[in-house]
This record gives sequence, structure tokens and C-alpha cells, in this order.
Amino acid sequence: MRWAALLGAAALPAQGRLSVTAALRPYVSVDAPVVALTHVRLIDGTGAAPREDQTILLKDGVIFGIGPTARLAPPAEAQVIDLNGHTVIPGVVGLHEHTYFRQTTRTTQMTVSGPLAYLANGVTTIRTAGSMFPYQELNMKQAVESGSLPGPRMHITGPYLNGAAGPESMNRGLRTPDEARRVVAYWAEEGATWLKLQGNLTRAIAGAIVDEAHRHGMKVTGHLCSLSFADAAALGFDAVEHGFITNSAYVPGKRPDTCPAENMRIQAEVDVASPAVQASIRELADKKVAVTSTLAVYETFTPGRFKLHPRAMELLAPDTRAEVEAEYAALGTQGLVVPERLIRKMMAWERDFVRAGGLLGAGVDPWGSGMLPGFGDLRNYEMLVEAGFSPGEAIQVMTLNGARILGEQATRGSIELGKVADLAVIRGNPAATPAAIYDMVTVFRSGTGFDSAKMLAAAKGLVGVR
Ligand SMILES: [Zn+2]
Repeated sequence: MRWAALLGAAALPAQGRLSVTAALRPYVSVDAPVVALTHVRLIDGTGAAPREDQTILLKDGVIFGIGPTARLAPPAEAQVIDLNGHTVIPGVVGLHEHTYFRQTTRTTQMTVSGPLAYLANGVTTIRTAGSMFPYQELNMKQAVESGSLPGPRMHITGPYLNGAAGPESMNRGLRTPDEARRVVAYWAEEGATWLKLQGNLTRAIAGAIVDEAHRHGMKVTGHLCSLSFADAAALGFDAVEHGFITNSAYVPGKRPDTCPAENMRIQAEVDVASPAVQASIRELADKKVAVTSTLAVYETFTPGRFKLHPRAMELLAPDTRAEVEAEYAALGTQGLVVPERLIRKMMAWERDFVRAGGLLGAGVDPWGSGMLPGFGDLRNYEMLVEAGFSPGEAIQVMTLNGARILGEQATRGSIELGKVADLAVIRGNPAATPAAIYDMVTVFRSGTGFDSAKMLAAAKGLVGVR
């Protein structure tokens, strides 16, 4: 028994267990200083293959022991939970997340439903990627931190930063580099740790944003259109969102600093294996520009492939649900259409990017198209496996890689000794049956276990309201 020896190793982060307030109490199912999860199938987030019949020891919010159940005896004071038939993964780190839900009739903040849905689906850390209600988002983050609402840890980006903003836009339009620097410095003070650029910016303004952000210790990502991936790499972006479908470099007649109309469509005709695309992949990997995979949200524009998740739909308010279902019925006849062959090209691109040494994370982009917080993060798992990643690699993209992109890999993102005990317990075996990933039972944040079903029940009917 290595218990005593492990005490020293686990003392490293010393973050402590998440404390259970009166508001959190109804959702908490495991609240003990020492917990032993026995007989689990472990997918640890490092990319390693699943390991059968393991025990994971948690002490004071930290992972304190890992080993075969037959050899690692729980200490006498532990609450022992027999999880035969269950799989444990690290808490998901969701990178392209939103806390608003946009409909044709209104845009609302998922103030209560968002945090509940994320945590219920095993997502223990999020980074938003553009806010419509930045102060509601900040207040929500504070509510979760103070224990008045169960939810994930949050890194927030503040409002979308764009080049122009019309009268109905909720973006911050930036006309000059000086204005951009002022806005970046302001959001650094207000608590944003990342910035999200949207669509139509010049290199001059984007360059000022990146420079000022780095000066304040913030990072920058973007959903690009006027800028190509090569522009982003040259300007020092930390990440780009969505991968292949948003690289405008392949649109015929693309002019510098201008968003071409056919972006996100023309890519369906581009060969991912071509020298130009492969060179672009290597450039991002070599310049250490991370990429966020958001396969699940683009699938919502793919007729014949996308299916509304019945349990996710229960979270929608009745009129919101009617609107989402009407849009679903009209899929392929209006708005953006992402053909099946383009989804497959996006998958191939992401595999090639990882093979080239690129750092790939994942997120939902739950902006209103029927792909909800948490549910979309888990749908990404099924799609990454479909793309050809092994189950261990797909989990790594969703967990440790996200932590690396956030710069938190030393303390989070994988199930390794001394790391914070953020983990999710799943009924069944998602390594054999990817759809089992949705069967979340208990989600641990810093060693405190939350009941997934109770959080989903509390979020029912709230998306579109609060
Ligand atoms: Zn988005």
C-alpha cells in the first residue's frame, strides 16, 4: 500500500475541496474528505488507452492515488464507492462556450440553465468565446465561484470584438488600433482572460488587440473571415476557432483584410490533402497556434446527419423549443448548409493537424442552433471518434488539451497524481460505445461530487428564460 508515500506528492496544489454551501447542497451526492472510486474503467486524459478495474483516491479535492483495485487498498477513513461498470474521465474543459442563447425572436442569457447543463454533462471548466451580455456573464461566473449556483469554472472573453457593428449588433465595433487597445485594457481590468475576435477585422486592428492582450497577460482567439489562418499565425494569435471551415485563404479572389462572401462554403470544394492546406496545417502547428474543434455545432447545419438530442430538448422553454424544432424541420432549405462532405473534410483536417503536432481542443459553440451547453461537448466526443481519433485521444482533446490551451495543465485536465479532482463518472463504456458518454452519473469539481440527473432536472425548461 503506497498511501503514506502518496501523501507528499498530493500536497502539491493544495487547492482544497469545493465547499458545499446551502445552495449547492441539494445537488451534492459525494461530500467526504477522502473518497475511493473502486473498480472503474479509467480514461485518464493523457491519450492513453482505457485501463480496467482501477481505483482512484481523492483527498481534500486532489487526486491522491491511482492504481489497480486489487493492489490499491482505500484508507480506513475513505468513503468507498464501487463503480463496477462505470468509466471515469477527467472533467471536460470546454473551449468554445457561450452563456447566451440566440433565437429569431429574442436573445437570452442562460444564467441558471447554462452552468447547470455544463456541470451535469461533466464539463468542469469552460472558456467562453464571445459574450452578448458580458456583465451577466461576469455576474454568473461570480455566482458560481461564491457557491450560489452549481457550475463549471469559467474563463471569460468579454464581448465579441469586431471591425464594424451595426445598430442591432451586440459586438464591440473597433475602428482604430488605439480604440482597440483601450477596449482590451478595459476588459483586462474587468476580468476577461481571453478575447474573442469575430469575422471582420483588419490586420492592423487585430495586431493591436493581440499586442495589448499579451501585454495584460490575456490570450486571443478568433472566428476568422477577413483574416486567413496565415494572418492569424503571423499576428501571434494564441488560437483560432472552428478549424478548416473558417480558413478564408482558399476562397478565390480573397483580398487582404476583407471577408469573402463564400467563406464557410467554398471549403467544401477544397482538397484537405493538397499541398496548400497541408502547409497551412504545419504553419499553425509550428507557430503554436491552437485550434478549437467545434464539429458538433457545424453538424447542426448538415441535413441528414444532425439530430436534436431528446434530453437536451427538455431543457428548452416551450416557445424556444418550438422555434428550435421549426428550424430543424427547415434544415437545408435556408441559412448556412454544411454538406456531409465538408464535415468529413473538417474531421480529416483536425486529424492531420494533430498528426502535425498541433494542439487541438474542443467546445460546443452553443449559440442557439439546438446544440446545448455540455451536450455539444459530449457530441464532439462521438464525432472525434468518428474522425479517427482513438477514445483515449478524443478524451485528451476534450480535457488535457483544453487545459494546455488555458495554461492549466500542471493542475488540471487529466487524472494524474497531485492534480485537482475534477472528474466525471459515466455509466457504461464510451470507449466501446461512444453514445454512452451521455450517461453521466456524478461529476466531481475539486473532489465534491454533484448528481448529474438532479442538475438536469433543475435546468428543465429554463433555456430561453434564464
Ligand atoms: Zn461561437
